[in-house]
Amino acid sequence: MIEHILPGLWRIEVQLPENPLQAVNSYLLKGDGRFLIIDTGMNMEVCAKALNAGLQQLNVDLKKTDFFVTHLHHDHMGLVSALATEGAKVYFNQPEIPIMRQFTSNTRWATLLNFNVANGFSEKELINSMPNLSYLYGTKQLPFIALHDGDGFEIGEYCFTCIETPGHSPGHICLYEKDKKLLVSGDHILFDITPNITWYPEMPNSLERYLHSLDKVYPLDVELVLPGHRKHQNNHRARIREIQEHHNIRLKETAAALESGEKTAYDVAANISWDITYTSWEDFPVTQKYFAVGETIAHLQYLADAKRIRKYAADGKTLYSLA
Ligand SMILES: [Zn+2]
Repeated sequence: MIEHILPGLWRIEVQLPENPLQAVNSYLLKGDGRFLIIDTGMNMEVCAKALNAGLQQLNVDLKKTDFFVTHLHHDHMGLVSALATEGAKVYFNQPEIPIMRQFTSNTRWATLLNFNVANGFSEKELINSMPNLSYLYGTKQLPFIALHDGDGFEIGEYCFTCIETPGHSPGHICLYEKDKKLLVSGDHILFDITPNITWYPEMPNSLERYLHSLDKVYPLDVELVLPGHRKHQNNHRARIREIQEHHNIRLKETAAALESGEKTAYDVAANISWDITYTSWEDFPVTQKYFAVGETIAHLQYLADAKRIRKYAADGKTLYSLA
């Protein structure tokens, strides 16, 4: 599906099969002799088909196309290696370039496995469900150009400024077009779903960073937000307040789960109400458990850094208890 949003700017909806996010938004900008694609969809046949059909309909020549990727998640980055032609510029962020190398060489899990086991996962449960990251991203080393906070670039009549918004991922960048009051929000602000906040070795207190990044974009003068998923909206401040409230409630619920005694993050997650259709924690597919535990770790770390709970190691496990 293609939607014409503004002069020289389109949204191509790329379906994500068997994924609760349903689809990702790929934005196309036409400039003077060059095109720019913002985010792409997963490295899967069905995504490639949907995106290529949209690009063809808009007469996009991939030999004249550059890319901007808001962050490293494979529903945004996955297809870049298949689409980028010789000489294409791939604008990205500095903190996530080394992580991308671990993805394309499929060495990332080695970094994450022990950590997740310490947080309560059984090694067997995890190993059987770890996706092959080289497959999700391709193995090609992309010629990333790192952009930083305040950097600008132009495409057609759009002049974008980069706003570093770490939290959802370590190097997430939003794009702001001041004159057009336009914010390309990636997964920093989403409207009918709440951005997932999880733990990263590169960003232990991701929730604190995320809330700080929400404060950072709050004052911007914005009339149109183009998010990474679902429809665009206009009231980013109302949505930021809702997301802040969501995390406040989740922080309280996370601390309350410790009232019955010390727990691993895995056991805390099993005691939290998740907005998904499974009736019991045991029925959650491992990937959903993985997201739930990651989100729980982010909230526990935030509470521990704020000295509202205690975090300590015992018998190879990371445990949390009320302060
Ligand atoms: Zn994401």
